[in-house]
Amino acid sequence: MISYNPVTAEIIAELKQIAGEKNVYTDLDKMHPYSHDEVTEPRYHHMPEVVVLPEDTAQVAAIVRLANRELIPVAPRGAGTGLACGAVPTFGGIVLGLEKMNRILEVDPLNMYMVAQAGVRTEDVQNTALKHGLLYAGDPCSGDSCFIGGNAATNAGGNRAVKYGTTRQQIYEIEVVTPTGNITKLGGRLKKSSTGYCLDQLVIGSEGTLGIITELTIKLVPLPQHVMDLLAVFPDVDSAINFVAVITKSGITPTCVEFMDNVAIRSVEQFINEKLPYYENGHYLIIQVEADNAEKLDEYAAQLDELCTEHGALALLIPNSAQIWKARKSFAEAVRHENLIHSNEDIVVPIDKMPEAMKYMESVCEKYGAAARIVSHAGDGNIHLSILQGSIPAGEWADRLNTILREVFGFVYPLGGKLSGEHGIGYKKKALMQEFTNPVELDLMRAVKRAWDPNHILNPGKVFDLQ
Ligand SMILES: Cc1cc2nc3c(=O)[nH]c(=O)nc-3n(C[C@H](O)[C@H](O)[C@H](O)COP(=O)(O)OP(=O)(O)OC[C@H]3O[C@@H](n4cnc5c(N)ncnc54)[C@H](O)[C@@H]3O)c2cc1C
Repeated sequence: MISYNPVTAEIIAELKQIAGEKNVYTDLDKMHPYSHDEVTEPRYHHMPEVVVLPEDTAQVAAIVRLANRELIPVAPRGAGTGLACGAVPTFGGIVLGLEKMNRILEVDPLNMYMVAQAGVRTEDVQNTALKHGLLYAGDPCSGDSCFIGGNAATNAGGNRAVKYGTTRQQIYEIEVVTPTGNITKLGGRLKKSSTGYCLDQLVIGSEGTLGIITELTIKLVPLPQHVMDLLAVFPDVDSAINFVAVITKSGITPTCVEFMDNVAIRSVEQFINEKLPYYENGHYLIIQVEADNAEKLDEYAAQLDELCTEHGALALLIPNSAQIWKARKSFAEAVRHENLIHSNEDIVVPIDKMPEAMKYMESVCEKYGAAARIVSHAGDGNIHLSILQGSIPAGEWADRLNTILREVFGFVYPLGGKLSGEHGIGYKKKALMQEFTNPVELDLMRAVKRAWDPNHILNPGKVFDLQ
């Protein structure tokens, strides 16, 4: 059992020396926003003992060295938009927020890369790339609020992952403060490398347990000249999801393929208060395609139209793009509006297993009196299941939810699925991670953590326990 020391007045004084008085909070009101992420259930919230907002990498390293010396836990925090309680300081101690490290340091349009500090908002990375006629391909739905460092720490996905991959595919190099307080660069601005272990990729997606990412060299790609959104409407879930494989086999590489079932469409429609096409009976696939010229896009549209007819679609529409993306991106908020107490899961399965997995999830939720809302990044098999408290009494919710999740994952793992496609494990899914991950894999992860973080001070209690 790990035991940590309390943050004393002397330690706070030292933190103020490192980061400056204005960047150290001990006032409860100021610390409260750092006690939670976007998970609304109070049982997952925990107050820090102190919040520190360093302004450069040297300050981050000095804080981590102090934490090692004094055995104090450190929870790294980006924008706090996480959905797995990864940034919540479950052991108290220090919340180390990256929000003041928010500068874009370099853009090289010819060689197509950008260097940014970890606290730059993802949308600012995207807009800066656009100003230079380039694309930053990462596009999580929370892009207007999350940070690029948080995206790397969680290996965030999003809407364009089908064509461009998740955040780990967008990063050349990271500057990292290790759990013992050393500063190092990992990766490189290289097209290829077979030079030892791929430590950059180990830190990316490690949810702040193996290092604090302070700076990133980000890949940019040519801006697609022509983009078209299409809305394929299907009469049922199976025909919609089965169409994903049909698109892939056709040779068209879509940028995104997003699925919304009819219940989710109705929920969002009420929330945004706008009439959506085929809301009465449709299930959506939102398909985005890109091309160098308009003729090629027309060709794709004609090809998809033919395939839609052949595979039982109700319609293939050219939708009002702004409206249809607003609908898709409002899903999380619509769920929250319906029921503040809910659990967002982002289960990933092989694409062809999605229909049976979704049916099972709905049936389990119904069996235990919860309501299910489903959308998915269908092009990459990532099912976003929101489980709403519904008619379950407050006192029974936690146990009932646990039962639902254990039944769902008991079904999903034999299909080849996993707990999370993009949100991560954090604190919230740790017990399930330990129950469902194969023991050899889990032991290897624990060995890595022990080697990198001998005092176990960096984001303890996240992803898995050491014992
Ligand atoms: C409305 C909404 C829509 C969303 N849509 C998507 C989506 O489409 N795709 C998706 O993948 N996620 C999505 N998310 C989840 C969330 O936005 C992502 O996980 C995002 O990457 C978190 O970034 P953040 O800066 O807010 O990190 P935080 O929430 O602050 O932290 C997340 C984790 O990363 C660690 N961390 C943060 N910064 C650093 C750093 N610099 N160094 C080391 N560790 C760090 C924290 O310790 C924590 O474990 C959504 C969330 C909301 C609320």
